[in-house]
Amino acid sequence: MSNKKTWGGEEFWGLGFEFDPQWILTDEQKKLQAALIELCRTTLRANAVESDARLVYPRKNLQELAKLGLLGLLVPKELGGMGQNHVCAAMVVETLARYGCASTAMCYTMHLGAVAAGLLRHHDSPVLQDIFKRIDKDCLIGTLSYSDPETGSHFWYPVSSGAEETPNGWRVRKKASWTTSGGFADWYIVQTTSPNFGGNYANLSCFLILADEVKSDPANWNGLGLRGNQSGPIEIDNVEIPRNRLVGPVGDGATSNDECVDPFFLLCSSACWNGIALGMIDIAKSHTTRKTHVDVGMRVADYPTIQDYVGECIMDTNAARALDYQMGQALDAATNNCDWSLHEEPSAMPRAQYLHWMWQVKFIAAKNVAHVSDKMLHACGGTGYKPALGIERYLRDAKAGWVMGPTNEVLRQFVGKMALLGTQSLDYWNQSLNERVLNNELKKLDADGKRQLAEKLLAEANGKIASVA
Ligand SMILES: Cc1cc2nc3c(=O)[nH]c(=O)nc-3n(C[C@H](O)[C@H](O)[C@H](O)COP(=O)(O)OP(=O)(O)OC[C@H]3O[C@@H](n4cnc5c(N)ncnc54)[C@H](O)[C@@H]3O)c2cc1C
Repeated sequence: MSNKKTWGGEEFWGLGFEFDPQWILTDEQKKLQAALIELCRTTLRANAVESDARLVYPRKNLQELAKLGLLGLLVPKELGGMGQNHVCAAMVVETLARYGCASTAMCYTMHLGAVAAGLLRHHDSPVLQDIFKRIDKDCLIGTLSYSDPETGSHFWYPVSSGAEETPNGWRVRKKASWTTSGGFADWYIVQTTSPNFGGNYANLSCFLILADEVKSDPANWNGLGLRGNQSGPIEIDNVEIPRNRLVGPVGDGATSNDECVDPFFLLCSSACWNGIALGMIDIAKSHTTRKTHVDVGMRVADYPTIQDYVGECIMDTNAARALDYQMGQALDAATNNCDWSLHEEPSAMPRAQYLHWMWQVKFIAAKNVAHVSDKMLHACGGTGYKPALGIERYLRDAKAGWVMGPTNEVLRQFVGKMALLGTQSLDYWNQSLNERVLNNELKKLDADGKRQLAEKLLAEANGKIASVA
């Protein structure tokens, strides 16, 4: 295989392989990368422009990925998939975002998250096995629907959702404020409170929902960037589904989140942000080495300021990539190279130990892409500000990184809080009392205030009123 990066037979116009950590890829993965770069050149990159301009779902691109067997990237070989690992998943998403289409990369990220959540519990599930066996042949696109309109980016807290047991299965209701591929996916992994949750929002379950069970209104989708990814609201309106559509046991939601949904989303979405950053550096290289100022006889790339911009962006982006790939390698090592048979033992959670590392990966990648998009716009000047160069689209796509849940505000607080106060202090489901805050607030009440509050609390404890205002 050539060590030179090519683009339609010519030398690639952006950064070459000397700035890519090729040493972490196997020969098979390098071959896949080369095939994907070529597919991006011939097809995906042009479709990205159409998706962005007209809010078109990138189905054509996803169909092309299916032809390469990429929808089954993580699916074990026994089920007809590629049986690939975490590093490969990150490489594929990064390559899609960098050379092809960032919206496709995000739809694919959510697809891989859904595949991982399904593979975690496919062992006793003929319905999931059937999807995985047909995933590329029938181009079966999956997605994750978690975010709730009432709790925003706290996607692990689905208050507008629920499920009940029925004689034949489950009745599921879900309102999701955002779902990538919403209305376009063929299958959805959906998280709701468990049928028996009894007010405990930590008690969550996952269900497999099929396309015709989902209400959506794609015509209403609009957004600053990633405009092809069609992340509109969806609703599952008390749909009755068969018993075998429960993914894993009742109450498996938190385990599924920590072991699969979060690790894969954080690994692959970070790869998407890194790919966008690299895509902008590639464009900036191409543009600044061609554009000349006749008065001084210099190309834009000859100015030391521009060289500094590019140098710093490469180093920061490669630091973000190095962390993402390093965590991909850590996940590979912990899972015998992404061997799903480990989960025949239902309590196995080899990935979850790295969750706080995955938070760091996403924070760094999303923070970096915001900075790089700014600097690469500056480097390309007014030409970058106009859509034709492509920097402008990437800049808008990049903005999704920071705000996608878990948002960067939430992540930095998680990491700082965990480091300072311990894991228990994270209190995802608002269950542990912060006595310091409570006592401090109580100090502010006078005797009357305390009496009124005590009466209110007593009434509530005795079931006379619903809640303390
Ligand atoms: C392009 C795109 C694709 C998406 N795709 C999917 C998908 O496929 N599936 C899915 O389930 N969801 C998806 N989402 C939703 C996403 O994960 C978030 O749920 C959503 O962006 C939250 O939006 P919001 O307006 O409710 O933000 P809010 O949650 O209201 O956040 C507003 C602000 O409050 C901050 N904030 C929130 N909580 C805290 C806290 N505890 N401490 C400090 N600050 C806090 C936030 O960081 C942010 O700055 C997608 C979002 C985008 C942008």
